[in-house]
Amino acid sequence: MGRRKLVVGNWKMNGLRAQLGEVEAIGGLARDHAAVEVGLCLPATLIAAADGVKGGAFIGAQDCHMKANGAHTGCLSAAMLVEAGASWTIVGHSERRQDQGETDADIAAKALAAKAAGLKVILCVGESLDVRDAGNAEAVVSAQLLASLPEGAAADWLAIAYEPIWAIGTGRIPTMEAVATMHAALRAALASRIGADADAMRILYGGSMNGDNAAELLAIADVDGGLIGGASLTAEKFAPVITAAA
Ligand code: PEP
Repeated sequence: MGRRKLVVGNWKMNGLRAQLGEVEAIGGLARDHAAVEVGLCLPATLIAAADGVKGGAFIGAQDCHMKANGAHTGCLSAAMLVEAGASWTIVGHSERRQDQGETDADIAAKALAAKAAGLKVILCVGESLDVRDAGNAEAVVSAQLLASLPEGAAADWLAIAYEPIWAIGTGRIPTMEAVATMHAALRAALASRIGADADAMRILYGGSMNGDNAAELLAIADVDGGLIGGASLTAEKFAPVITAAA
């Protein structure tokens, strides 16, 4: 199929300049494993400094505003993130959907703003434990994906991250069968909207992925990489995930 694996760390609200050595070490791992596309989505305050030590990794942001500029105190536009050195951004992470009340429409608009400024985008979707337990996770997450998908979505600038909310930061993950079923459902949903380009679009798994489970998760046919929180904060923890993807 030829989808290059994409392995991206999400540092969330972690990281000061003292941690730039970890960015540099992860950049070195990325250079040594060029078969894998490796990136770090960092706090915006670290992006410019990280750009100078990123090695073979790309530096990304964790969110961007949907507007190009204006009266939005505390927010950052996609162009600002590009100027700082970002080449990707996450949009629609469940922590922002929950904490900031971001809607599917907001997320589609953010993805379009990012694209317009030249950023590539990781669009996150995922179900709550209640939805999983009710047995309709595939239908709910597929609908969420289609509602969040921007106009003109295409594999050369957009990747999807399936992140079950109950798996993020908990040490719990779905069964491999459940991950396979969800990723196949999401690819079918993409195909219904964007046709054959769905085959080229990368669908990442995220939620407590680490060096112990990455090889098994990344071996699933429709799992094209990972979005990794806690296990991306140091090169030592991130290395086995990158190796598993190579
Ligand atoms: C995330 O927040 O995107 C994530 C997957 O976190 P963790 O790996 O820590 O579960």
